[in-house]
Amino acid sequence: MKLKNKKIAVIGLGKSGFAAAKFLLTQKAQVCATDSSSKKEVLENAGYLRSVGAEVETGGHTEEFLQNVDLIVTSPGVPRDSLPLEFAKKKKISVISEVELAYQFCQGLIVAVTGSNGKTTTCNLIHRMISDAGRPSVLCGNVGYSFLEAVPGIGPETVVVLELSSFQLEDSPTFRSSIAVVLNVSANHLDRHKTIENYTLAKEKIFKNQKASDHLILNYDDPIVRSMSKKTKSKVIFYSQNHLQGDIFWQDHMVWIRRGRAKKTFLDAADFQLKGMHNMQNIMAAAAVGMALKLPREKMQKTLESFKTLEHRIELMGQVRGIHFVNDSKSTTVESTRAAILASETPVILLAGGRDKGAPFSEIEMLVRERVRTVVLYGEAREKIAAAWPTLSSVRTERDFHQAVRLAYEEARPGDTVLLSPMCTSFDQFSSYEHRGETFKQIFHELEKQWTL
Ligand code: ADP
Repeated sequence: MKLKNKKIAVIGLGKSGFAAAKFLLTQKAQVCATDSSSKKEVLENAGYLRSVGAEVETGGHTEEFLQNVDLIVTSPGVPRDSLPLEFAKKKKISVISEVELAYQFCQGLIVAVTGSNGKTTTCNLIHRMISDAGRPSVLCGNVGYSFLEAVPGIGPETVVVLELSSFQLEDSPTFRSSIAVVLNVSANHLDRHKTIENYTLAKEKIFKNQKASDHLILNYDDPIVRSMSKKTKSKVIFYSQNHLQGDIFWQDHMVWIRRGRAKKTFLDAADFQLKGMHNMQNIMAAAAVGMALKLPREKMQKTLESFKTLEHRIELMGQVRGIHFVNDSKSTTVESTRAAILASETPVILLAGGRDKGAPFSEIEMLVRERVRTVVLYGEAREKIAAAWPTLSSVRTERDFHQAVRLAYEEARPGDTVLLSPMCTSFDQFSSYEHRGETFKQIFHELEKQWTL
């Protein structure tokens, strides 16, 4: 792709757009960047880009700004009906994503991972396994370090472990991964995709351009994911927690592999630090990638034994008055909260709420009734969740997050777990899920201090 002297518009000046604009400038393109907001981060990025020669528009988009543009690079989540994308349609200007742009310049072998839940954990597992096996590996994409930022450091020997959300797969017409992984598809981001069918179609783009020699790793237990095997020509590897016919499957605390009619043990999970069946699924997906890359089994076993849960993901913080506190702030879906409740070995006081993104809360009502002693709902979505769980006897609501955490603590008995697993985004009261998780930890430490005084 030749970018020199081309006029290229970048839509959105968050992390992804900022990286795209900087990269395009290094390629000597003429860059104009536009963002509808005037948030602090956007203005800071705008200031920098202006100082290095880009034209920048913030606080809204105009058609004048986009005149004579040859190509548009859009950011994940920019709405289809936004002015620049409507303009591109009208004028027949190509629109690509940051992922597509990075792909065009990437020399390494790509392992791409998508799914509604478990992406970051699985990507970290894969990246750690590859690095521990002595091969160069770069972890990028949705994990915070953008693919494009990583590109200059990627050589032909590098394995690129790329976490992709459904948004990032849009506008990536030629993107191809040598190994693609689809973990699960559950109702998520329906505020944007409208139907689960659209959301599934977005996820399927991860393997759309694969060749017959490429690998596609699929979760056999998820019917939507399983059926993707019918839509590909790549080599499919199924993993399964419940079905012994998977190529990789789970039985008696062991990960097994199947070769024809024979099966043999592959990994022993007795000493794994990661807990919960959802994590065993993530481990099997990572092990399937390891197999496709022909990593040594002993090295994989060692990596998996030492791998601890990542921050804000079912993270055990400690206890006050015999009450355990678990921070699962990263959970923004119903299915991830289901996984967190199932992973708990003690009675649960569930803290959930925040900003709803169209989640089907009623799907876990039965599980909550069976496993949760008290539910404390907070934030914008509190009444909506309460209405979706009409058969629960112990539901408390509290608008403010701080008050809600204290209420959950008061409701708990020694031996219980106060589990923050919100099922919603954090943006009604926080800047990010990390901010929400840090606040939860801070309140925990305050309670700890008060108790020991
Ligand atoms: P993602 O990057 O897709 O958001 P993470 O690995 O960050 O996923 O995990 C986020 C939360 O999702 C975890 O805290 C846990 O509650 C839940 N989770 C992780 N893996 C799975 C899985 N395979 N299935 C269901 N839920 C999961």
